[in-house]
Amino acid sequence: MCGQMHRGQKSEEHRLETLRETEVLVIGAGPAGIAAACSAAECGRRTIVLDDNPLPGGQIWRGKEDPNATKWLSRAQRAGVQMIHEAQVFAAMMNDTRVVMAETPDGLCAVRSPCIILATGARERFLPFPGWTLPGVTGAGGLQALVKGGLSIEGKRVVVAGSGALLPAVAAYLHEHGANVRLVAEQTSWLQLIAFGASLVLRPSVAMQGLGLIPQLLGIPYEAGCMVTAAHGEAKLISVTLRHGSRTWQVDCDYLACGYNLVPNLELPVLLGCAIANGYAAVDEWQESSLPGVYCAGELTGIGGVDRSLIEGQIAGYAAAGKQGKPKAQALWPQRQALCAYAERLDRAFALRDDLKALATPETIVCRCEDVRRAHLDALAPGSWRMAKLHTRCGMGACQGRICGPAMSFIHDWPMESTVSTRPPLFPVRMETLTAAGLTERTAEKTGEVNR
Ligand SMILES: Cc1cc2nc3c(=O)[nH]c(=O)nc-3n(C[C@H](O)[C@H](O)[C@H](O)COP(=O)(O)OP(=O)(O)OC[C@H]3O[C@@H](n4cnc5c(N)ncnc54)[C@H](O)[C@@H]3O)c2cc1C
Repeated sequence: MCGQMHRGQKSEEHRLETLRETEVLVIGAGPAGIAAACSAAECGRRTIVLDDNPLPGGQIWRGKEDPNATKWLSRAQRAGVQMIHEAQVFAAMMNDTRVVMAETPDGLCAVRSPCIILATGARERFLPFPGWTLPGVTGAGGLQALVKGGLSIEGKRVVVAGSGALLPAVAAYLHEHGANVRLVAEQTSWLQLIAFGASLVLRPSVAMQGLGLIPQLLGIPYEAGCMVTAAHGEAKLISVTLRHGSRTWQVDCDYLACGYNLVPNLELPVLLGCAIANGYAAVDEWQESSLPGVYCAGELTGIGGVDRSLIEGQIAGYAAAGKQGKPKAQALWPQRQALCAYAERLDRAFALRDDLKALATPETIVCRCEDVRRAHLDALAPGSWRMAKLHTRCGMGACQGRICGPAMSFIHDWPMESTVSTRPPLFPVRMETLTAAGLTERTAEKTGEVNR
């Protein structure tokens, strides 16, 4: 009896310890999230940032000495932003009381906030082709992240392939770290690339970034209109087959870094109930989603690079701060308009060719978590992602369709949002975290007591 009372008291304390309250909650500590947090906090709003990585900075700044990153991070510190790292948001309560739940190494971290800014960024799109599951085949940004994390690439033969502005940046980074980059294979045509290059006259800062890569890319072969059709090897990758028009050839390599543009991480906006339009979170001029008090910024609303993420983050942060911030937000609208136009040009230039839909053969595994082959899906001819999941378990594994969902959306012309898994927990979490989340949910409903 005594023991039971003790356990009860402990869990009550635990619930209150894990439930914090703030005025503005930002999810994601990439450029968009950091800029949003700075803007809200500088307007006097108590601001917390949750991010699932050990270091802030998102995909571009994380673990990198970058003067821009240092500037923004010191600004956040001066403004009193509270950053909570290694906190992966997996669920949320969106009734009268808005509570977001994250798992940290210490257990549950729950934050109640009337105002939420989602800045969860984007990830690479992978397209299945024979051999894409071999060790040594990674995403383009994926290999860069592994090298940033300590993987030695010195002397390794690498083919960088797929599509998008990320490919030259990754090739330059790998080359700088000692890799022998044998080829950059971009699926889009030279014609589209030239048209895009010419349009950069309107965006001199981006043109300068691109030109800055040229010395690092000198000597690296670059083929446009070219795609990897197969990766070969037994226990690991030894070579890839490439196709350009009717010409095919093989290149020996240790790594294939292959990604087809980026897709937004829509899981949280969809879970919270935000409307999605054309594959991105839909927002108004204040970056506010269809859900009042929930804002979206950065690559969630369109793939447009770091400058766009910073501007959208600031607009969202100022708008979330209310009356005081809104004039500052409004002053940034013209810059956003120019950056959105650039993003549209980027989308057009690197639009995926239809023949990529045929890269996967009937034997190719399309869902690597559940080992679903293309033939299995094709035989059933599912009319939707839901039917594909129900009949084949495609997208039902550990990654919950984060890898195969965007690929299937492209191959079958299914709307991106229909392939987004939104059932909490969004990520696998520990049992004790789930139990604590249930208890905290009830506490949040009953009491106003929280940690500040
Ligand atoms: C793999 C990859 C590599 C890239 N490399 C480059 C590069 O070298 N150069 C370049 O110019 N651009 C690069 N980009 C593009 C770059 O990411 C964008 O231009 C810009 O950083 C986007 O900023 P953001 O704040 O919108 O998103 P991000 O920088 O992606 O930040 C989003 C943050 O939210 C976190 N997050 C997501 N979901 C959750 C959750 N549920 N709970 C908690 N935290 C969460 C993420 O971990 C991340 O830290 C890369 C993109 C990707 C996907």
